[in-house]
Amino acid sequence: MPKRILTLWDNEQLNEADARTLRARCAEAPYPFDKVTKEAIRELAEAFFAREDAVGLAAPQIGIGKRIIAFRCRGYDDKDPERKKEDCEILVNPRITQKRGDLVVGEEGCLSCPELHVEIERYPEIKVRAYDLEGRKVSKRYLDFAARVVQHEMDHLEGKLIVDHEGAVTVPKKRQEFFEKLFQEKKEA
Ligand SMILES: [Zn+2]
Repeated sequence: MPKRILTLWDNEQLNEADARTLRARCAEAPYPFDKVTKEAIRELAEAFFAREDAVGLAAPQIGIGKRIIAFRCRGYDDKDPERKKEDCEILVNPRITQKRGDLVVGEEGCLSCPELHVEIERYPEIKVRAYDLEGRKVSKRYLDFAARVVQHEMDHLEGKLIVDHEGAVTVPKKRQEFFEKLFQEKKEA
């Protein structure tokens, strides 16, 4: 069974235990990978593949406080006939070594913040150093949407979620009341 994806809220309530895990900073995975890390990679990939709508997933989203992210590296459009399930990349202990270009605003959603979207500024080009799932050192360059996805997933490793960014928030009309209350409480806290 793939692990459950943690969310800040569902329906009418806040998930406080999930929120604590999602908001914690993740620890580096040991190198070479130990058994626990290998198992965490396997579980993250499994949870990622179980969600057709997932563009990316970070280990804390399934309750694992390790610096591991999974994301789709091409075929973002789910109607694309070239889209393949295995076009998924795993990065362990990713570190951004270069950011280039002017920040670009784009709308982002997150499986851990269901129903809403936030406009967030991201760099259109980044270079990242990490280990791949086999434990090889890799240095990668990501552009545009892929760069956005990687920056979003890396935020998760710091315990940062889309609602922690300053940008404009969009919520479905029928859920406006719930979210207004939620954000009001957040401001007062
Ligand atoms: Zn997310």
